[in-house]
Amino acid sequence: MTQVLVFFDRVVDHLTPAQAELLTHADALGEAVVVAGSLPPAGAEALAVHGVTGVLTGADSIYAPDPALADLVVAAAAELDPDLILGPDTPDTVDALSRAAVALDAGLITGANGVTGSGSGTKSVLAGSWRTTAQISEDGPLLATLRPNTASQQAIAAEVPEVVALEVAASSAVEILEETELPPSGRPDLTEASTVVAFGRGVEGDLRLVEQLAEELGAALGASRVATDAGWIDHSAQVGQTGVTVSPQLYISVGISGAVHQRAGMQTSGTIVAINKDEDAPVFEIADFGVVGDLNDVLPQMIDELRRR
Ligand code: FAD
Repeated sequence: MTQVLVFFDRVVDHLTPAQAELLTHADALGEAVVVAGSLPPAGAEALAVHGVTGVLTGADSIYAPDPALADLVVAAAAELDPDLILGPDTPDTVDALSRAAVALDAGLITGANGVTGSGSGTKSVLAGSWRTTAQISEDGPLLATLRPNTASQQAIAAEVPEVVALEVAASSAVEILEETELPPSGRPDLTEASTVVAFGRGVEGDLRLVEQLAEELGAALGASRVATDAGWIDHSAQVGQTGVTVSPQLYISVGISGAVHQRAGMQTSGTIVAINKDEDAPVFEIADFGVVGDLNDVLPQMIDELRRR
């Protein structure tokens, strides 16, 4: 049976949607064991809800972005000799699994849409226009980070797993001197959200309507480069070629023209809804549903309708 090691940098009292999806992937591939950088007792209970029966962690908690997380993955791999090591496609996990892949002399696929037990993975490239399959040629396990929204989330309740603490031999020459924690926004993480409301120049710096719409939908806010360059929202919200790539189930594009650089970051979304007052805006070429109209007329109607429900 394929042995799958699932790496989470931290597990709190519930799993993120991306973590729950990853466990569904892992369960479909074989027998999954989780290795977690930090894991409070409530974290083990959260894993039990998703059917996890084996959990490894370090003797002390290690928080991302500490390079010691890679040492933990290497120690867990030495313990289990897995065929696959999977993690969510977040910057900290890509960092940890990249370091671990070097230490294990193994192959790594980042941003994968899926993997198989035989060491191959699929990936969307060139802004989602092509799907490629990569096969690792190394002997070791396949390491891969998986994009969110590529699997369903399954809950298969199990007994709370026993947590085994590993001795981790720290190999890293990197020392973290200072960490800054960003204040929580109260919104889902942009790259993991199942619904994204993205806005562009059309909002002219007034975010009230897009924020209300996002609030009603429980959505994350994204933006075009024009909007982030104007300082209307932090650059981390930029979707596109030079920003983040998102693939939510629902992407609502508000006052964005749909230039090729913006599309590069969102065109693999499940359903794309575009609101633009210009009927010739390129965004309508990729939209599943389009509303030609002024966002200041359209958005209040959408918000009212959502509040009525
Ligand atoms: P515009 O193109 O100005 O479009 C505004 C749209 O809003 C128009 O279609 C207009 O009809 C509509 N509108 C205006 N008022 C209203 C209203 N009241 N109601 C409804 N609709 C309205 N861009 C990104 O987004 N992400 C990237 O990562 C990115 N990377 C880039 C990398 C490179 C190398 C380059 C050269 C460019 C990059 N860009 C990126 C910029 C990109 O090419 C576009 O310039 C940008 O996406 C345009 O942003 P926008 O759609 O908000 O603005």
